[in-house]
Amino acid sequence: MPELPEVEITARRLGAALRGAEVESALAPGMVTMKTFDPPLGALAGASVEGVRRLGKMPVVEFGELALLVHLMSAGRLQRFDKRASARDKTARLLVRFRDGRELRLREFGTQQRAWAKLLEASAVEQDEAVATLGPEAWPAPPPERFAALVREPRRLHPLLRDQRTIAGIGRSWSDEILWEAKLSPFKQGSELDDAQVERLRSACDEVLGGALEHYERVIGETVPDKLPMPLKVHGRGGEPCPRCGARLEAIHFSEHVITYCPADQTAGRVLKDRRLSRLLK
Ligand SMILES: [Zn+2]
Repeated sequence: MPELPEVEITARRLGAALRGAEVESALAPGMVTMKTFDPPLGALAGASVEGVRRLGKMPVVEFGELALLVHLMSAGRLQRFDKRASARDKTARLLVRFRDGRELRLREFGTQQRAWAKLLEASAVEQDEAVATLGPEAWPAPPPERFAALVREPRRLHPLLRDQRTIAGIGRSWSDEILWEAKLSPFKQGSELDDAQVERLRSACDEVLGGALEHYERVIGETVPDKLPMPLKVHGRGGEPCPRCGARLEAIHFSEHVITYCPADQTAGRVLKDRRLSRLLK
């Protein structure tokens, strides 16, 4: 599930490897992948990669006057390969082939086709609705006053942090880690935070996301693997001991995600069961 640190390391590695590479052709085996048709994908032929950057959780490949904006959704990966994809690669959604034989490939694991891409005029990227609606980047964290204004909303912290319009880059994994680091309940309302708690949350964004990125810089070589070595301490570890206090980490299951937290550190010892939560949400 690529979030800010995973997409940032992807953008850095792709940028370093592909800068200057000239496009031979581009095609989209994923029938619903391209969300734009003008300019057509063929317009990339002859263009060269000038850089790869990240906006929230989206990588942007820059080709001079054109830019490819990609949303990986939950199962997409943007990767560089030395050889072209086999026609049998059912994960291939978008292929950008370079004259030197290499290929930039948007792949998606699983049966659903949700990852998408848009080929835009470079000058139009910031106005695209997927970009224009993003809140400030979660890392580096916004300055204290700005951050306080963003999070002091009457909404629970876990969905608030995952809302890209509030703050960009955080998803289901890193929200668990940030809230655990800040010792805040995932169910606390943003509007209930005192000044010290807001600051704890802000530093946790910086430390957790920045720390993950430092980790990736150390352990990931020139190529980003299919499965990133995510340095997670609590996410997905329900039932295991909390690495800070030893209490049992609890998990709450939703249809599409799981929230993991430490009751001793984050909810004053209260264990929020799924049933109780569903009552709480009414
Ligand atoms: Zn704990």
